[in-house]
Amino acid sequence: MSTTDLIITGSGILGLATAFLAHRQGRRVRVIDRCARPVGSSVQNFGHACFTGQADDIQDLAMTSRAGWQQAAAATGIWAAETGSYIPAMTEPELRVLQEFADHRGPDQARLLGAEEVASAVGNPNLGAVGGAHLPQDMRVDPREAAPAIARWLADRGVEFTWNTTVTEVADGTVSTNRGQFHAEQVVVCPGLGLSALFPSIAEAHGVRTCTLVMSLIERPRHIPTGLALLTGTSLARYDGFAAMPGASALREDLAQREPELVDVIANLMVTDIADGLLIGDSHAYSLSPEPFIDETIADLLLDRVTGILGIDAPVVSQRWLGHYADSTDTNLILEHPDERTTVAVVTSGIGMTLSFGIADRILGGSPIETAASVTADTPTSDEVVMSGR
Ligand SMILES: Cc1cc2nc3c(=O)[nH]c(=O)nc-3n(C[C@H](O)[C@H](O)[C@H](O)COP(=O)(O)OP(=O)(O)OC[C@H]3O[C@@H](n4cnc5c(N)ncnc54)[C@H](O)[C@@H]3O)c2cc1C
Repeated sequence: MSTTDLIITGSGILGLATAFLAHRQGRRVRVIDRCARPVGSSVQNFGHACFTGQADDIQDLAMTSRAGWQQAAAATGIWAAETGSYIPAMTEPELRVLQEFADHRGPDQARLLGAEEVASAVGNPNLGAVGGAHLPQDMRVDPREAAPAIARWLADRGVEFTWNTTVTEVADGTVSTNRGQFHAEQVVVCPGLGLSALFPSIAEAHGVRTCTLVMSLIERPRHIPTGLALLTGTSLARYDGFAAMPGASALREDLAQREPELVDVIANLMVTDIADGLLIGDSHAYSLSPEPFIDETIADLLLDRVTGILGIDAPVVSQRWLGHYADSTDTNLILEHPDERTTVAVVTSGIGMTLSFGIADRILGGSPIETAASVTADTPTSDEVVMSGR
């Protein structure tokens, strides 16, 4: 029998962010994961911390998360680029949404760019945009590096990692696994898609299902700037910060006419640059039991549109994969307390990298992360936080 202050189930970014902040509070922490290393959603994604695109009412949470990423990067040495994101406006409706957003948030969050400026920023002089924007506060990490490196850093400083061990039940400070029981004052369960197996009633109450996303990694041609993060018109229709702008409905109508194939696959066309190349995606399909196969037509569609924007004539694809994350039909964050000692936390949309440290802060009851925009006194309690951006 082993007892500690805090047990965390799940070594994805949400579990690790919680472990990082708890370790900084001086608590004894154990992390249990069914795998031998982080291989879940947290390594399959773009590594794009899209703070700016989140809705107005979760900007405090987003900024707390941003400060957490900065602290984790400073401590662990992981790459965390503060290069922001670029959004070329290829049409007038896209430009209108960017103009409205820049007026609404101000230049600290969104700076409008001329057609030539945005073309140069994305490395394609023939882009043909009508304008664009730079979102300077967005950050980037390498998803293949971040979670494993944070786990290693924590392990070197005394956080216990129990790998290859499946948690089968959590109640009142006791964590039962296929390798025996562990005990703690507090247990935080961050199982991502594993929620349905561990707490089926919570998963069913929120309509939890799997979202699958077609992704590719291509070699980065020399003309594409290193550290690039690119969002597109489909992102403006998807992230709630942009989608709340008055011009968003005209943008959606325009997209449906111009790009019905992208709309059909629920695309959020994005690119990020990591050490291994350019990450390209994504589409969205929702199911309780998703198809395991990658649809080549979707992968080719996304590749075609991205390489068109970036002026890449002959892309060299190194990898393709089907990313998975937990999605819900009614919320973007499940944060529940099945008993006094247990917290269950699952991000049920594609924004868990962005908000991980902010959510971890809420889970631990507000740890001392110094934020640029501090959390206000009337911030809702953890259970009331409703996130709408994805
Ligand atoms: C293709 C793709 C693109 C994305 N792009 C972005 C993006 O650009 N920006 C962004 O903010 N977010 C993005 N996301 C979403 C983001 O990746 C997720 O929201 C986030 O990684 C969820 O982290 P997590 O720790 O909850 O889950 P995970 O990383 O899946 O970790 C859960 C862990 O729990 C473990 N586990 C589960 N059940 C058990 C059990 N019973 N016992 C022991 N261990 C268990 C698993 O093994 C796993 O290691 C994207 C996701 C995908 C797939």
